[in-house]
Amino acid sequence: MTAAGLVLVLNSGSSSIKFQLVDPVAGTAVLSGLVEQIGEADGPVADHAAGLKLIHQRLVDSGIDLAAVRAVGHRVVHGGKLFHRPTLITDEVVTEVERLDELAPLHNPANVIGIEVARNDFPDVPHVAVFDTGFFHSLPAAAASYAIDHDVAMRYDIRRYGFHGTSHEYVSGEVAILLDRDPAELNVIVLHLGNGASASAIRGGVAVETSMGLTPLEGLVMGTRSGDIDAGVLFHLNRAAGMGVDELDELMNRRSGLKGLSGVNDFRELLERREAGGALGEAAALAYDVYCHRLRKYVGAYLAVLGRVDAIAFTAGVGENAPSVREDALAGLDGLGIAVDPERNRTGKGARIISAEGSRTTVMVVPTNEELAIARAAWQFV
Ligand code: ADP
Repeated sequence: MTAAGLVLVLNSGSSSIKFQLVDPVAGTAVLSGLVEQIGEADGPVADHAAGLKLIHQRLVDSGIDLAAVRAVGHRVVHGGKLFHRPTLITDEVVTEVERLDELAPLHNPANVIGIEVARNDFPDVPHVAVFDTGFFHSLPAAAASYAIDHDVAMRYDIRRYGFHGTSHEYVSGEVAILLDRDPAELNVIVLHLGNGASASAIRGGVAVETSMGLTPLEGLVMGTRSGDIDAGVLFHLNRAAGMGVDELDELMNRRSGLKGLSGVNDFRELLERREAGGALGEAAALAYDVYCHRLRKYVGAYLAVLGRVDAIAFTAGVGENAPSVREDALAGLDGLGIAVDPERNRTGKGARIISAEGSRTTVMVVPTNEELAIARAAWQFV
């Protein structure tokens, strides 16, 4: 079995780098791995450049002929107003992505280092940037605009960009394939529930609403991020508690969400604590309830946005693996045409339908595969 070629997919996060060697034609991963805890005291490497060196060594050690790598696909978190389609990386593109650092200070700098090191390691193949914001470029102005001073918004590029776009696009495409329907005729809600979490409303393959905004902080309750919050909370904490902007940023992005409410951000641990009961169990139960309640609110809102919903798809770590969340978030919505079948929901594996016979909206579990989507996008340039 020799592949026509492989794509190296790099996903450089704030403190980790994931990599995958993908056969984009077969749709399979040949090798994958990650370097974590970058820059942390007991982590394996001091910075992203060293992390990428480690990854290159692992690629060499794997014995796979690296001449088969015909393209490198880079996940880039923020494309700003400029980038939406997968983009062939040039020096100019790198400069423009660097300019967007201010909008995504945790992510874009790591993305840029990943691009620079990998261009050095693989100088003779196309490098392609795939933007997390890209799929949401299509949001109508009514959904993309914040109701703030127009001039301020224009001057500072403040709008709702949305994130996890690669996943929302991929999953909604898979829904159409699995249901054997024309994507142009399908209205879909995608619920991407991982460490970060976001919802989207997609009409005929085009995103019309999503829960994340200027940054990946808005919307659903996440592992460590608050999601929606009254901006007045920040003013109040600044005045009453003397918290400065960096402290507030840290509070909202790293010490909120499930972690803020219960002390743990990993969903498996949350479920275990909730099961075990006691004081910690009560906190975990509240976090769980806030999480599911927020999710239900978004589903209701997106039903109204779309008018008719053909499918709701759960994806990512929590969405794919936590049946109770799927059941609790959608419980009691029979009147709106949404009924989860408890048996289907609790059994089975992989992509599948979990709604009851006769449910007007088809509820599904659809595993996401951002790496494959990025690899396919990069393959277009080979
Ligand atoms: P990332 O955003 O880092 O890609 P993932 O999509 O891998 O995140 O999702 C990670 C989350 O999924 C974690 O909170 C983890 O606890 C949760 N998760 C993974 N497996 C399970 C499971 N079997 N049951 C409940 N939650 C799970």
